[in-house]
Amino acid sequence: MKRRTFLKNTTISTAGSVLSPINLKADNAAIEVLNPYNRVPVNFIIDDSTALVNLAYYGIPQFAEVFPDNYKQDWKNLPREIPDSFVLEFLEWCDQNGVKGKYSMVPYPACTGWLHRFIPGWSRKELNDSLKIVRELAQPNWDIHSEMISHTRVIDIKTGVPYPEASPDYMENWEWSQERSADELGEYIAYSLQILEEAGFHCDGVTTPGGFGSRNIPNLAKGTQYAVREVFGESVAHFFRDVITEPGKSVQPQVMHPTGLQGSDPSCSVHMIACTGDWFGGWDGLTPGDADKFITADLEGGRLPEVIESEEPAIFICHWPGIYYNGEKLGFNIFKTVVNRLHERYDNLRWMKLTEIAHYWAAREHTVAKVTINEVSLSAPFSTSGFTIKLPFVMENPELESNGKSLQLRKVKDELSFEDGTYYMEGNSTTICLKLHKGQSYLRSQV
Ligand SMILES: [Zn+2]
Repeated sequence: MKRRTFLKNTTISTAGSVLSPINLKADNAAIEVLNPYNRVPVNFIIDDSTALVNLAYYGIPQFAEVFPDNYKQDWKNLPREIPDSFVLEFLEWCDQNGVKGKYSMVPYPACTGWLHRFIPGWSRKELNDSLKIVRELAQPNWDIHSEMISHTRVIDIKTGVPYPEASPDYMENWEWSQERSADELGEYIAYSLQILEEAGFHCDGVTTPGGFGSRNIPNLAKGTQYAVREVFGESVAHFFRDVITEPGKSVQPQVMHPTGLQGSDPSCSVHMIACTGDWFGGWDGLTPGDADKFITADLEGGRLPEVIESEEPAIFICHWPGIYYNGEKLGFNIFKTVVNRLHERYDNLRWMKLTEIAHYWAAREHTVAKVTINEVSLSAPFSTSGFTIKLPFVMENPELESNGKSLQLRKVKDELSFEDGTYYMEGNSTTICLKLHKGQSYLRSQV
């Protein structure tokens, strides 16, 4: 099913005088917010990646110490490294095919060593080269996330040492996070982000390892918001926590804890939802996947068409050891098949970073519109690219005034050709796509 959203708190006025706010959700005069560039956002989430270290090899024995019955994989026969030659091959294919996504850089991967210092088993040069690849070749199209600090043991952030107990209460994947305050989680997340900052990365968000914060999402949201602001100065933070694969259930990003919307320093935290399981190669690189579960060979079935046709963001997920699949690249080959099928089936997708999607949803939910006979004014606490709105009336030759500048919008030939600063007219409606700046913007007809 397609969900329609409208700008909040829209008021309509006759020339000059603003009428009191009316509920426009039930009104034909509502301004509808379409998807970014009127396309369905797509994003590929990679978990458990870092520099060089195969997190499955080092993580499984630590998980097995806590739950011996559940982690019986023959981890000693896995490769300890996922080589940079594979990272390069993967990134090159993604660049050629326009893929964007999220790439984790676990800061202290399975307690082996520190991305901003050294990792035992590799030379300093090998680590530097590996970081450089992700910084220079991945970062333009991929959000870089921490995945807490180690993805295994909880670290005492006062000492930098893991707590002594190997129990669920002191593993990042399980209990430790479930009853912590927003401040405690925020400090822990900030610690993980500081390591990445020192290793030369910029982060707008984080990924949760395993069940981290699964029963404590409001505090996780606030803690992430605090940490991303503290370390990187970003006002729209995001985090990847939940996966929803049930048909018909919304997978839209959830904009949480908006604060300071009326002032000069608004912020929020956006929960990004993945809509698939890892059907590539598993977190351990030992669980064979199936492209048909994402999208079938006839391009009709599978989870991704279901979500794309509901016009919600199609964010799908893998784990890096399963993409490499111990050198067999099974997950990577499934991924190529899935992307090729998506591109064959759809002409209305737009690959976006999670940061871009998060900004869009924050703007979509919190921009306020006022409509007069002469203009539409937009008050935006959050900026975004590709802000696309459908006005239920004709606006000839629209001009955008924002950020102290005026811009004549350019008419496009169809509803799939939007770029920032364009419009399209059909019947009694005008669809406008613009780069939305924080603060006030005005749309006016230049007849
Ligand atoms: Zn993970």
